[in-house]
Amino acid sequence: MGILEYTDAHHDYRKRLRLFLEKEVTPHADQWERDHIVPKSAWKKMGAAGFLCTWVDKAYGGPGLDFLYSVITTEEMMKTRQTGMATSLHCDIVVPYLSSFGNEEIKQRYLPGCVSGDIITAVAMTEPGAGSDVASMETTAVEDGDEIVINGSKTFISNGINCDLVIIAAKDPAIENKHAAVSLYIVDDGTPGFTRGRHLEKMGMHSQDTAELFFSNCRIPKKNILGKKGDGFIMLMQKLQQERLVAAISNVSGSEVLLEKVIAYAKTTEIDGKPLSKRQSIKFTLAEMATDVRMNRVFLDNLIKGHMAGEDVIAETMMAKYVSSEMINLMADRALDLFGEYGMLEDNPLVQDFRDMRIVTIFAGTTEIMKTIIAQSLGL
Ligand SMILES: Cc1cc2nc3c(=O)[nH]c(=O)nc-3n(C[C@H](O)[C@H](O)[C@H](O)COP(=O)(O)OP(=O)(O)OC[C@H]3O[C@@H](n4cnc5c(N)ncnc54)[C@H](O)[C@@H]3O)c2cc1C
Repeated sequence: MGILEYTDAHHDYRKRLRLFLEKEVTPHADQWERDHIVPKSAWKKMGAAGFLCTWVDKAYGGPGLDFLYSVITTEEMMKTRQTGMATSLHCDIVVPYLSSFGNEEIKQRYLPGCVSGDIITAVAMTEPGAGSDVASMETTAVEDGDEIVINGSKTFISNGINCDLVIIAAKDPAIENKHAAVSLYIVDDGTPGFTRGRHLEKMGMHSQDTAELFFSNCRIPKKNILGKKGDGFIMLMQKLQQERLVAAISNVSGSEVLLEKVIAYAKTTEIDGKPLSKRQSIKFTLAEMATDVRMNRVFLDNLIKGHMAGEDVIAETMMAKYVSSEMINLMADRALDLFGEYGMLEDNPLVQDFRDMRIVTIFAGTTEIMKTIIAQSLGL
Protein backbone atom coordinates (compact mmCIF):
# COMPACT_ATOMS: atom_id res chain seq x y z
CA MET A 1 0.00 0.00 0.00
CA GLY A 2 1.16 3.54 -0.75
CA ILE A 3 1.54 6.25 1.87
CA LEU A 4 -1.86 7.72 1.03
CA GLU A 5 -4.90 5.54 1.38
CA TYR A 6 -6.83 6.01 -1.82
CA THR A 7 -10.13 4.11 -1.88
CA ASP A 8 -12.08 2.83 -4.89
CA ALA A 9 -14.19 5.99 -4.63
CA HIS A 10 -11.04 8.14 -4.99
CA HIS A 11 -9.89 6.11 -8.02
CA ASP A 12 -13.32 6.43 -9.55
CA TYR A 13 -13.27 10.20 -9.02
CA ARG A 14 -9.86 10.43 -10.71
CA LYS A 15 -11.12 8.42 -13.67
CA ARG A 16 -14.22 10.59 -14.08
CA LEU A 17 -12.22 13.79 -13.74
CA ARG A 18 -9.66 12.62 -16.31
CA LEU A 19 -12.44 11.89 -18.81
CA PHE A 20 -14.04 15.26 -18.13
CA LEU A 21 -10.74 17.10 -18.64
CA GLU A 22 -9.98 15.19 -21.85
CA LYS A 23 -13.34 16.30 -23.22
CA GLU A 24 -13.88 19.77 -21.77
CA VAL A 25 -10.43 21.21 -21.09
CA THR A 26 -7.59 19.71 -23.16
CA PRO A 27 -9.18 20.40 -26.57
CA HIS A 28 -9.51 24.10 -25.67
CA ALA A 29 -6.23 24.65 -23.84
CA ASP A 30 -4.30 26.03 -26.84
CA GLN A 31 -7.10 28.46 -27.69
CA TRP A 32 -7.23 29.66 -24.09
CA GLU A 33 -3.48 30.25 -24.23
CA ARG A 34 -3.98 32.40 -27.31
CA ASP A 35 -6.94 34.22 -25.71
CA HIS A 36 -4.96 34.75 -22.50
CA ILE A 37 -8.02 33.73 -20.48
CA VAL A 38 -10.19 30.73 -19.67
CA PRO A 39 -13.91 31.37 -20.32
CA LYS A 40 -16.10 31.40 -17.24
CA SER A 41 -18.29 28.78 -18.91
CA ALA A 42 -15.46 26.24 -18.43
CA TRP A 43 -15.54 26.84 -14.66
CA LYS A 44 -19.31 26.33 -14.63
CA LYS A 45 -19.00 23.06 -16.51
CA MET A 46 -16.41 21.87 -14.03
CA GLY A 47 -18.63 22.90 -11.12
CA ALA A 48 -21.72 21.27 -12.63
CA ALA A 49 -19.75 18.04 -13.05
CA GLY A 50 -18.89 18.09 -9.33
CA PHE A 51 -15.15 18.81 -9.55
CA LEU A 52 -14.93 22.14 -7.69
CA CYS A 53 -14.52 22.58 -3.91
CA THR A 54 -15.20 18.90 -3.25
CA TRP A 55 -14.50 19.37 0.46
CA VAL A 56 -17.36 21.86 1.02
CA ASP A 57 -20.04 20.53 3.38
CA LYS A 58 -23.34 19.24 2.04
CA ALA A 59 -25.07 22.03 3.98
CA TYR A 60 -23.45 24.53 1.60
CA GLY A 61 -23.92 22.65 -1.66
CA GLY A 62 -20.74 20.57 -1.70
CA PRO A 63 -20.24 16.82 -1.42
CA GLY A 64 -18.17 17.10 1.80
CA LEU A 65 -15.28 14.89 0.65
CA ASP A 66 -11.79 14.57 2.12
CA PHE A 67 -8.61 16.43 1.08
CA LEU A 68 -7.45 13.55 -1.14
CA TYR A 69 -10.09 14.62 -3.67
CA SER A 70 -8.43 18.05 -3.78
CA VAL A 71 -5.06 16.34 -4.23
CA ILE A 72 -6.44 14.33 -7.15
CA THR A 73 -7.94 17.44 -8.75
CA THR A 74 -4.67 19.39 -8.48
CA GLU A 75 -2.71 16.44 -9.92
CA GLU A 76 -5.06 15.85 -12.82
CA MET A 77 -5.30 19.55 -13.68
CA MET A 78 -1.49 19.61 -13.82
CA LYS A 79 -1.50 16.62 -16.15
CA THR A 80 -3.72 18.47 -18.64
CA ARG A 81 -0.75 20.77 -19.35
CA GLN A 82 -3.03 23.76 -19.13
CA THR A 83 -2.18 26.14 -16.34
CA GLY A 84 -4.89 28.69 -16.96
CA MET A 85 -7.76 27.40 -14.90
CA ALA A 86 -6.59 28.15 -11.39
CA THR A 87 -8.98 25.73 -9.75
CA SER A 88 -6.57 24.83 -6.93
CA LEU A 89 -6.24 28.49 -6.04
CA HIS A 90 -10.03 28.82 -5.97
CA CYS A 91 -10.90 25.49 -4.30
CA ASP A 92 -8.06 24.91 -1.88
CA ILE A 93 -6.61 28.34 -1.18
CA VAL A 94 -9.28 31.07 -1.41
CA VAL A 95 -12.59 29.34 -0.64
CA PRO A 96 -11.18 27.83 2.60
CA TYR A 97 -10.93 31.41 3.93
CA LEU A 98 -14.70 31.79 3.47
CA SER A 99 -15.36 28.46 5.10
CA SER A 100 -12.93 28.80 8.02
CA PHE A 101 -13.40 32.45 8.88
CA GLY A 102 -16.78 33.43 7.41
CA ASN A 103 -19.87 33.52 9.61
CA GLU A 104 -22.98 31.48 8.78
CA GLU A 105 -24.44 34.22 6.59
CA ILE A 106 -21.24 34.48 4.51
CA LYS A 107 -21.05 30.70 4.08
CA GLN A 108 -24.68 30.49 2.95
CA ARG A 109 -24.20 33.45 0.63
CA TYR A 110 -21.08 32.32 -1.18
CA LEU A 111 -20.15 28.65 -0.77
CA PRO A 112 -22.85 27.14 -3.03
CA GLY A 113 -21.74 29.44 -5.89
CA CYS A 114 -18.08 28.54 -5.31
CA VAL A 115 -18.99 24.84 -5.65
CA SER A 116 -21.10 25.35 -8.78
CA GLY A 117 -18.51 27.56 -10.53
CA ASP A 118 -20.88 30.53 -10.61
CA ILE A 119 -18.52 32.35 -8.26
CA ILE A 120 -14.81 32.42 -9.15
CA THR A 121 -12.63 33.70 -6.33
CA ALA A 122 -9.32 35.51 -5.93
CA VAL A 123 -7.20 36.60 -2.99
CA ALA A 124 -5.46 39.96 -3.13
CA MET A 125 -2.54 40.57 -0.83
CA THR A 126 0.28 41.74 -3.09
CA GLU A 127 0.76 45.41 -3.89
CA PRO A 128 3.35 47.19 -6.01
CA GLY A 129 5.41 47.80 -2.86
CA ALA A 130 4.35 44.80 -0.76
CA GLY A 131 5.09 41.29 -2.00
CA SER A 132 7.04 39.03 0.34
CA ASP A 133 6.53 41.57 3.11
CA VAL A 134 2.73 41.57 2.93
CA ALA A 135 2.36 43.62 6.09
CA SER A 136 3.88 46.65 4.34
CA MET A 137 0.66 47.07 2.38
CA GLU A 138 -0.71 50.56 1.78
CA THR A 139 -4.32 49.71 0.93
CA THR A 140 -6.60 51.07 3.63
CA ALA A 141 -9.97 50.05 5.00
CA VAL A 142 -11.74 52.65 7.12
CA GLU A 143 -15.08 52.22 8.88
CA ASP A 144 -17.78 54.74 8.03
CA GLY A 145 -21.11 54.01 9.73
CA ASP A 146 -22.35 50.63 8.49
CA GLU A 147 -19.81 50.56 5.71
CA ILE A 148 -16.10 50.08 5.15
CA VAL A 149 -14.33 52.30 2.64
CA ILE A 150 -11.41 50.69 0.78
CA ASN A 151 -8.74 52.67 -1.04
CA GLY A 152 -5.61 51.35 -2.73
CA SER A 153 -4.44 48.89 -5.34
CA LYS A 154 -3.35 45.28 -5.64
CA THR A 155 -1.25 43.70 -8.35
CA PHE A 156 -0.40 40.26 -9.78
CA ILE A 157 -3.76 38.89 -8.71
CA SER A 158 -4.55 35.46 -10.15
CA ASN A 159 -8.13 35.15 -11.44
CA GLY A 160 -8.04 38.95 -11.30
CA ILE A 161 -10.10 39.37 -14.47
CA ASN A 162 -12.48 36.45 -14.02
CA CYS A 163 -13.14 36.77 -10.30
CA ASP A 164 -16.65 37.38 -9.01
CA LEU A 165 -15.40 37.78 -5.48
CA VAL A 166 -12.05 38.91 -4.13
CA ILE A 167 -10.77 38.55 -0.60
CA ILE A 168 -8.66 41.62 -0.03
CA ALA A 169 -6.18 42.36 2.74
CA ALA A 170 -6.26 45.99 3.85
CA LYS A 171 -5.05 47.93 6.89
CA ASP A 172 -6.66 50.33 9.30
CA PRO A 173 -4.40 53.42 9.05
CA ALA A 174 -5.23 54.35 12.65
CA ILE A 175 -3.46 51.25 13.98
CA GLU A 176 0.31 51.58 14.23
CA ASN A 177 1.30 47.92 14.54
CA LYS A 178 1.48 46.84 10.91
CA HIS A 179 0.41 43.25 11.60
CA ALA A 180 -2.48 44.12 13.93
CA ALA A 181 -3.72 46.70 11.39
CA VAL A 182 -4.52 44.08 8.74
CA SER A 183 -8.03 42.69 8.19
CA LEU A 184 -9.58 40.64 5.40
CA TYR A 185 -12.63 41.83 3.47
CA ILE A 186 -14.88 40.38 0.78
CA VAL A 187 -15.41 42.59 -2.25
CA ASP A 188 -17.98 41.47 -4.83
CA ASP A 189 -17.51 42.08 -8.53
CA GLY A 190 -19.57 45.11 -9.56
CA THR A 191 -19.11 46.97 -6.27
CA PRO A 192 -18.79 50.69 -7.16
CA GLY A 193 -15.17 51.80 -6.77
CA PHE A 194 -13.73 48.34 -7.56
CA THR A 195 -12.13 48.25 -11.01
CA ARG A 196 -9.63 46.14 -12.91
CA GLY A 197 -6.38 47.58 -14.20
CA ARG A 198 -4.07 45.87 -16.67
CA HIS A 199 -4.47 42.23 -17.58
CA LEU A 200 -0.77 41.47 -17.06
CA GLU A 201 1.18 39.87 -19.92
CA LYS A 202 3.38 37.19 -18.37
CA MET A 203 6.19 35.09 -19.87
CA GLY A 204 4.22 31.92 -19.08
CA MET A 205 0.85 30.71 -17.85
CA HIS A 206 -0.73 32.83 -20.55
CA SER A 207 -4.28 31.59 -20.10
CA GLN A 208 -4.11 32.30 -16.35
CA ASP A 209 -5.56 35.79 -15.96
CA THR A 210 -3.36 37.88 -13.70
CA ALA A 211 -4.44 41.45 -13.12
CA GLU A 212 -4.15 44.71 -11.27
CA LEU A 213 -7.11 45.62 -9.07
CA PHE A 214 -8.02 49.14 -7.99
CA PHE A 215 -10.16 50.29 -5.08
CA SER A 216 -11.24 53.91 -5.07
CA ASN A 217 -13.62 54.87 -2.27
CA CYS A 218 -14.95 51.36 -2.66
CA ARG A 219 -17.73 50.94 -0.11
CA ILE A 220 -18.63 47.51 1.16
CA PRO A 221 -21.09 46.60 3.94
CA LYS A 222 -19.53 45.96 7.34
CA LYS A 223 -20.83 42.39 7.23
CA ASN A 224 -18.23 41.71 4.49
CA ILE A 225 -15.39 41.53 6.98
CA LEU A 226 -13.93 38.03 7.26
CA GLY A 227 -13.30 36.92 10.81
CA LYS A 228 -12.36 39.46 13.49
CA LYS A 229 -11.04 42.92 12.67
CA GLY A 230 -7.26 42.95 13.09
CA ASP A 231 -6.91 39.18 12.64
CA GLY A 232 -6.14 39.43 8.92
CA PHE A 233 -2.44 38.70 9.20
CA ILE A 234 -3.01 35.75 11.53
CA MET A 235 -5.60 34.30 9.12
CA LEU A 236 -3.21 34.64 6.20
CA MET A 237 -0.50 32.84 8.16
CA GLN A 238 -2.90 30.08 9.22
CA LYS A 239 -3.70 29.29 5.61
CA LEU A 240 -0.11 29.22 4.38
CA GLN A 241 0.42 25.52 5.14
CA GLN A 242 -2.32 24.41 2.76
CA GLU A 243 -1.47 27.05 0.14
CA ARG A 244 2.13 25.91 -0.12
CA LEU A 245 1.22 22.25 0.13
CA VAL A 246 -1.04 22.70 -2.90
CA ALA A 247 1.87 24.38 -4.73
CA ALA A 248 4.11 21.39 -3.92
CA ILE A 249 1.44 18.91 -5.08
CA SER A 250 1.22 20.74 -8.36
CA ASN A 251 5.03 20.82 -8.75
CA VAL A 252 5.57 17.14 -8.00
CA SER A 253 2.72 16.07 -10.24
CA GLY A 254 4.02 18.33 -13.03
CA SER A 255 7.51 16.85 -12.61
CA GLU A 256 6.14 13.32 -12.94
CA VAL A 257 4.49 14.25 -16.22
CA LEU A 258 7.67 15.93 -17.48
CA LEU A 259 9.69 12.84 -16.62
CA GLU A 260 7.31 10.60 -18.57
CA LYS A 261 7.58 12.89 -21.58
CA VAL A 262 11.38 13.02 -21.66
CA ILE A 263 11.74 9.27 -21.13
CA ALA A 264 9.35 8.63 -24.03
CA TYR A 265 11.29 11.08 -26.19
CA ALA A 266 14.67 9.58 -25.28
CA LYS A 267 13.43 6.09 -26.12
CA THR A 268 12.00 7.01 -29.49
CA THR A 269 14.58 9.49 -30.78
CA GLU A 270 17.71 8.17 -32.45
CA ILE A 271 21.06 9.81 -33.00
CA ASP A 272 23.61 7.92 -35.13
CA GLY A 273 21.25 4.96 -35.27
CA LYS A 274 21.01 4.60 -31.50
CA PRO A 275 18.14 5.82 -29.24
CA LEU A 276 19.11 8.68 -26.97
CA SER A 277 18.08 6.54 -24.00
CA LYS A 278 20.93 4.09 -24.75
CA ARG A 279 23.59 6.70 -24.17
CA GLN A 280 25.11 6.71 -20.72
CA SER A 281 25.00 10.45 -20.15
CA ILE A 282 21.31 10.56 -21.06
CA LYS A 283 20.56 7.54 -18.88
CA PHE A 284 22.27 9.28 -15.96
CA THR A 285 20.30 12.49 -16.54
CA LEU A 286 17.04 10.55 -16.58
CA ALA A 287 18.09 8.53 -13.53
CA GLU A 288 18.84 11.75 -11.64
CA MET A 289 15.49 13.23 -12.63
CA ALA A 290 13.62 10.06 -11.60
CA THR A 291 15.41 10.02 -8.24
CA ASP A 292 14.50 13.66 -7.53
CA VAL A 293 10.88 13.10 -8.53
CA ARG A 294 10.51 9.92 -6.48
CA MET A 295 12.09 11.42 -3.36
CA ASN A 296 9.88 14.48 -3.65
CA ARG A 297 6.81 12.28 -4.09
CA VAL A 298 7.51 10.24 -0.96
CA PHE A 299 8.20 13.36 1.11
CA LEU A 300 5.08 15.04 -0.28
CA ASP A 301 2.73 12.12 0.34
CA ASN A 302 3.89 11.95 3.95
CA LEU A 303 3.22 15.66 4.26
CA ILE A 304 -0.27 15.30 2.80
CA LYS A 305 -0.91 12.58 5.36
CA GLY A 306 0.29 14.81 8.20
CA HIS A 307 -1.74 17.76 6.91
CA MET A 308 -4.89 15.62 6.73
CA ALA A 309 -4.26 14.43 10.29
CA GLY A 310 -4.20 18.08 11.41
CA GLU A 311 -0.48 18.07 12.24
CA ASP A 312 1.67 21.19 12.19
CA VAL A 313 3.91 20.45 9.21
CA ILE A 314 4.58 24.07 8.32
CA ALA A 315 8.40 23.85 8.12
CA GLU A 316 8.25 20.61 6.12
CA THR A 317 5.69 22.20 3.78
CA MET A 318 8.05 25.12 3.13
CA MET A 319 10.78 22.56 2.38
CA ALA A 320 8.50 20.75 -0.07
CA LYS A 321 7.41 23.97 -1.78
CA TYR A 322 10.97 25.19 -2.21
CA VAL A 323 12.57 21.91 -3.28
CA SER A 324 9.76 20.90 -5.66
CA SER A 325 9.73 24.38 -7.26
CA GLU A 326 13.46 24.25 -7.89
CA MET A 327 13.17 20.63 -9.11
CA ILE A 328 10.52 21.27 -11.74
CA ASN A 329 12.42 24.27 -13.07
CA LEU A 330 15.63 22.27 -13.37
CA MET A 331 13.73 19.43 -15.02
CA ALA A 332 12.02 21.71 -17.53
CA ASP A 333 15.43 23.21 -18.36
CA ARG A 334 17.16 19.83 -18.80
CA ALA A 335 14.22 18.50 -20.82
CA LEU A 336 14.78 21.25 -23.39
CA ASP A 337 18.45 20.25 -23.63
CA LEU A 338 17.46 16.67 -24.40
CA PHE A 339 15.29 17.86 -27.25
CA GLY A 340 18.25 19.71 -28.76
CA GLU A 341 17.23 22.20 -31.44
CA TYR A 342 13.61 20.97 -31.25
CA GLY A 343 13.61 22.24 -27.69
CA MET A 344 13.56 25.74 -29.14
CA LEU A 345 10.46 25.34 -31.27
CA GLU A 346 7.29 27.05 -30.13
CA ASP A 347 5.18 24.02 -31.02
CA ASN A 348 7.20 21.78 -28.72
CA PRO A 349 4.90 21.41 -25.67
CA LEU A 350 7.95 21.43 -23.41
CA VAL A 351 8.58 25.05 -24.34
CA GLN A 352 5.29 25.97 -22.69
CA ASP A 353 6.17 23.83 -19.66
CA PHE A 354 9.51 25.65 -19.41
CA ARG A 355 7.83 29.06 -19.47
CA ASP A 356 4.93 28.09 -17.22
CA MET A 357 7.11 26.56 -14.54
CA ARG A 358 9.40 29.57 -14.18
CA ILE A 359 6.88 31.25 -11.89
CA VAL A 360 6.68 28.53 -9.26
CA THR A 361 9.79 29.63 -7.35
CA ILE A 362 8.19 33.08 -7.01
CA PHE A 363 4.48 32.86 -6.32
CA ALA A 364 2.90 31.44 -3.18
CA GLY A 365 6.10 32.69 -1.48
CA THR A 366 9.58 32.79 -3.01
CA THR A 367 12.27 30.20 -2.43
CA GLU A 368 14.11 32.70 -0.21
CA ILE A 369 11.02 33.20 1.94
CA MET A 370 10.61 29.40 2.25
CA LYS A 371 14.24 29.18 3.43
CA THR A 372 13.67 32.04 5.87
CA ILE A 373 10.75 30.18 7.48
CA ILE A 374 12.70 26.89 7.55
CA ALA A 375 15.58 28.71 9.26
CA GLN A 376 13.14 30.16 11.82
CA SER A 377 11.94 26.63 12.58
CA LEU A 378 15.57 25.78 13.39
CA GLY A 379 15.65 28.63 15.88
CA LEU A 380 17.88 30.74 13.60
C1 LIG B 1 1.82 34.92 -11.90
C2 LIG B 1 1.68 35.45 -10.52
C3 LIG B 1 0.51 35.24 -9.82
C4 LIG B 1 0.35 35.77 -8.55
N1 LIG B 1 -0.85 35.63 -7.89
C5 LIG B 1 -1.06 36.30 -6.73
C6 LIG B 1 -2.35 36.32 -6.13
O1 LIG B 1 -3.30 35.70 -6.60
N2 LIG B 1 -2.54 37.06 -5.00
C7 LIG B 1 -1.52 37.77 -4.43
O2 LIG B 1 -1.76 38.43 -3.43
N3 LIG B 1 -0.28 37.76 -4.98
C8 LIG B 1 -0.03 37.06 -6.11
N4 LIG B 1 1.21 37.08 -6.71
C9 LIG B 1 2.29 37.80 -6.08
C10 LIG B 1 3.29 36.88 -5.39
O3 LIG B 1 2.73 36.35 -4.24
C11 LIG B 1 4.57 37.67 -5.14
O4 LIG B 1 5.21 37.83 -6.38
C12 LIG B 1 5.50 36.99 -4.16
O5 LIG B 1 4.97 36.98 -2.88
C13 LIG B 1 6.88 37.66 -4.12
O6 LIG B 1 6.74 39.01 -3.91
P1 LIG B 1 7.43 40.06 -4.92
O7 LIG B 1 7.24 39.58 -6.30
O8 LIG B 1 6.94 41.42 -4.59
O9 LIG B 1 8.95 39.95 -4.63
P2 LIG B 1 9.80 40.76 -3.50
O10 LIG B 1 9.17 40.55 -2.16
O11 LIG B 1 9.94 42.15 -3.99
O12 LIG B 1 11.14 40.00 -3.58
C14 LIG B 1 12.15 40.23 -4.58
C15 LIG B 1 13.31 39.29 -4.33
O13 LIG B 1 13.82 39.53 -3.00
C16 LIG B 1 13.76 38.32 -2.25
N5 LIG B 1 13.39 38.65 -0.85
C17 LIG B 1 12.32 39.37 -0.44
N6 LIG B 1 12.30 39.44 0.90
C18 LIG B 1 13.35 38.72 1.33
C19 LIG B 1 13.85 38.40 2.63
N7 LIG B 1 13.26 38.82 3.75
N8 LIG B 1 14.98 37.64 2.71
C20 LIG B 1 15.59 37.19 1.58
N9 LIG B 1 15.16 37.47 0.33
C21 LIG B 1 14.06 38.21 0.21
C22 LIG B 1 12.70 37.48 -2.88
O14 LIG B 1 12.90 36.10 -2.62
C23 LIG B 1 12.88 37.81 -4.35
O15 LIG B 1 13.93 37.05 -4.89
C24 LIG B 1 1.41 36.50 -7.96
C25 LIG B 1 2.62 36.66 -8.66
C26 LIG B 1 2.75 36.17 -9.91
C27 LIG B 1 4.04 36.41 -10.66
